[in-house]
Amino acid sequence: MNYISLNAKAPKVGFREAVINGLAPDRGLYFPETITPLPSLFFETIQDFTPEEIGYQALKQFVGDAIPETALREIVYDTLTFDFPLVAIEKRTYALELFHGPTLAFKDVGARFMARCLAYFNSKTEITNSTVLVATSGDTGGAVADGFLGTPGIEVVILYPSGKVSEIQEQQLTTLGKNIKALEVKGDFDACQEMVKKAFLDPDLVHKKLTSANSINVARWLPQMLYFFLAYKSLKSKGEASNIVFSIPSGNFGNCCAGMMAAQLGLPVSHFIAATNSNDTVPRFTATGKYEPGLTIPTISNAMDVSNPSNFIRILKLYENKLQVLKQSFSSYSFSDTETLQAMQVLYEKWGYIADPHGAVGYLGLKKYSRANDFTGVFLETAHPIKFKETVETILSEKLVVPTQIQELLDKKKQSHPIAGYEGLKSFLLGDSNG
Ligand SMILES: *Cc1c(COP(=O)(O)O)cnc(C)c1O
Repeated sequence: MNYISLNAKAPKVGFREAVINGLAPDRGLYFPETITPLPSLFFETIQDFTPEEIGYQALKQFVGDAIPETALREIVYDTLTFDFPLVAIEKRTYALELFHGPTLAFKDVGARFMARCLAYFNSKTEITNSTVLVATSGDTGGAVADGFLGTPGIEVVILYPSGKVSEIQEQQLTTLGKNIKALEVKGDFDACQEMVKKAFLDPDLVHKKLTSANSINVARWLPQMLYFFLAYKSLKSKGEASNIVFSIPSGNFGNCCAGMMAAQLGLPVSHFIAATNSNDTVPRFTATGKYEPGLTIPTISNAMDVSNPSNFIRILKLYENKLQVLKQSFSSYSFSDTETLQAMQVLYEKWGYIADPHGAVGYLGLKKYSRANDFTGVFLETAHPIKFKETVETILSEKLVVPTQIQELLDKKKQSHPIAGYEGLKSFLLGDSNG
């Protein structure tokens, strides 16, 4: 399997190089050169397969010969140590809960898979001490920190926007110590992401062997296909697998793009909805055909506070950059914080379900979809409500039970290094503080 750069000015590489480079040298995102659908028998008999087997079958063509079968199966097995329940809400409406991993948000699968792939590559070469550099709008940092904690030969440097992540999120990425360093950036997520992109192109940093663990990395993006396969498997066992519509709360659009990739592999999905908060660059694009990122707007669904979503270009590529073709399978809607809070109330009062703000945006996406009236709707519940404790408790007038692992986390001491701009990042990476 080869990966091409979407900027088309860099050489093709295999899975190993795509994972290690993160971004192609021409700043383009890597994209698989070929996509081969799985046999229809696979979908007909999906009931018979374990999540590990489904994960392996979905991923093997994208890994190619970079990791041999036994090792890849082991990596998938180690990645999937928790469940992905499909919870019934109202008639033909389900929440796919993706927050049962160690950091209580859906990014655990991608982060764990990527960490294990990199550890495998490191074990096969003399090259040691690479640096994983990652920008987070909230949940990536924690998932990457947890996924890479203690991985030999890898330093992790996380950039997060100061004051714009929740307390639990901040604790998750600033308290682990060891090979994990957190940089508190004066600025928003897009500023963090820009700095990361810049560092990759900086000749002075070449010797640091920088790798990105953002969802632009193919090893974080592709394993998320699994969620959609597993939802299909569950719906099939309930006899509800016809006309599936997924609504994906979206920020950087990696998760949504993974679902659309699963569809390219043959997964029977009728429609994808990318539901956003007020950061509505993509909904405006689908309406007007103009892609115009604005300033990032802070919202209560902060992990989606992204105005220039990196992965959207991959979604376009899946549809040969033809907006009209894309729109047959894809819609995107934006929702305000007020609408999100109302949805959280409705979900709780009418259906007894406690959603976090991101899941609530996903639910709103399903409610707005009107192209068909006979469909099974699945919204992705991407974070545990406890991660947004204050917002959830205030709107529901209920106290949430704090799981013990979260209480322990909150008691830990925060360690972060403040930086103001790119020079701060650079001197941190070059300086003694990073060992
Ligand atoms: C990261 C995140 C999202 C957005 O996912 P993308 O793949 O970036 O679109 C949504 N919800 C939560 C809770 C997240 O952490």
